[in-house]
Amino acid sequence: MNRDQLTADVMARLRETEAILDGHFILTSGKHSNRYIQCAKLLSHTGHAGWAGATLAEAMPDFNLVVSPAMGGIIIGHEVAKAKGTPFFFTERVEGKMTLRRGFSLPTGAKVAVVEDVVTSGGSLVEVVELLQGAGVEVTATASIVDRSGGRRPDFGAPFTSLIELDVQVWDPSDCPLCADGSEAVKPGSRGLK
Ligand SMILES: [Zn+2]
Repeated sequence: MNRDQLTADVMARLRETEAILDGHFILTSGKHSNRYIQCAKLLSHTGHAGWAGATLAEAMPDFNLVVSPAMGGIIIGHEVAKAKGTPFFFTERVEGKMTLRRGFSLPTGAKVAVVEDVVTSGGSLVEVVELLQGAGVEVTATASIVDRSGGRRPDFGAPFTSLIELDVQVWDPSDCPLCADGSEAVKPGSRGLK
């Protein structure tokens, strides 16, 4: 599958599961946006989650352990690890600092893939890479389902793989062109359970 076919396939899965919505949204930050992405909606379908994990794993450089930041990275990280047959650990924040807890101990010779659901600024992914490198472990791959960084993601220090790149416009409410056109912004998910 080439990149265009992959993009079309991933977009169809995101739309089918309502993981991507186009419209006029109020984000949790208070900013307005033309697009809302919620990967948890895609991953709630275990078939799509398995497919996404296997497709990422196949495209990534070699690794023998996956580590993901909680919460967003847990499901897709687990699916990537399962597809490759490796263990899976996750990190979590303790008083704001990214930490490996729960008895997860990094084996000698680990070649780690760090996997996220969505990369926006890439901040969480960088924190996990730094945590691992600080522990003397080699990071050989980084990945996410969605890259919505618009090319502004930082250098993760290891090759980065995504399934799709998505453009998302974000504005302060006072600068929002959709508001200027007279449309009303809605909170995504406010329609509730269907
Ligand atoms: Zn607006």
